[in-house]
Amino acid sequence: MNTLLGLDIGGTRLKAGIVNAADGTLVRQSSRPTPVVPAAFDAAVLELLREVIAGETVDGVGIGTKGIVDPVTNVLKTCPGTLVFLEGRSFPEMVAPALDGRPVTVAADNDARTALAGELVWGAARGYREVVMLTLGTGVGGGIVAGGRILRGAYGVAGHLGHYTVDPRGRSCMCGNRGCLEAYFSAPAIEADARSSVLRGCMSVLTTRFLTRPMEITCEAVFDAAAEGDAIAREIVGEALVRLGGALAGMVFMLDPEIVILGGNITRAGDDALFKPLAADVNARVARLLGRKVPIVKQQLADGSAILGAAALVVGAGAAAGPH
Ligand SMILES: [Zn+2]
Repeated sequence: MNTLLGLDIGGTRLKAGIVNAADGTLVRQSSRPTPVVPAAFDAAVLELLREVIAGETVDGVGIGTKGIVDPVTNVLKTCPGTLVFLEGRSFPEMVAPALDGRPVTVAADNDARTALAGELVWGAARGYREVVMLTLGTGVGGGIVAGGRILRGAYGVAGHLGHYTVDPRGRSCMCGNRGCLEAYFSAPAIEADARSSVLRGCMSVLTTRFLTRPMEITCEAVFDAAAEGDAIAREIVGEALVRLGGALAGMVFMLDPEIVILGGNITRAGDDALFKPLAADVNARVARLLGRKVPIVKQQLADGSAILGAAALVVGAGAAAGPH
């Protein structure tokens, strides 16, 4: 397994690249918009894969996608949203035309576990056997490494940590549950809280900046205002952080991880706004029972992390087939 192909199927973009398995370097990559029509989708995937393969011999193909993938057949079981037409599709069959009939290992999984696979093989989770990872962005993705393996569960759903309940009677979530973590700590949740404050006319720089365009409030703008010392923004971020801290404490008690890794756009908020207060809160909650502190660190893979993570699935698939 020297040359791997990683494909990331996102809601807005298809990304693919060739990865050197030995050191996790991205040899070349390309991307294009994700078509939302079946025939155009297949044509775009084929064109993209041929472009990055460029005649080279590929040893394995890893695919990261939205939705839930059957771990045995690599068939996409559930994929709500614009790519719903992909439900029931087999990824090995989808990529086969780009491989000119050569038999290679194909492994697919959802994008959150794909991110964890990348960290496990080439990033912050390397060498660890017990890991919890959250990706904080538009939604909250999750992944768990237990005993050195990424947990998939009975039906491929394990690790949906964004739907960890932090308030049983709380806000409705898109998943059908109430009070899920991502209904409180996600970019849309934080933006909605800020928008509500602005529309109520609260004394805040957010009101000054967004009163005439409240739909344009971004999560980043809320974190920026909090960093400037704005009391309302600090309250919104602080409240979201308490939900995240409580959720992580529960996950730590459940899984006893050596390390917690955070990825996703919101981690750009940085040490002072996110990592330090979160680590202080989580460790205050768990230190007595655990008798130790759990490190909370940032995802290491940056440029091309979605492609690298997809390629890392093949490394995991190879290991799973071995004598362990
Ligand atoms: Zn939910």
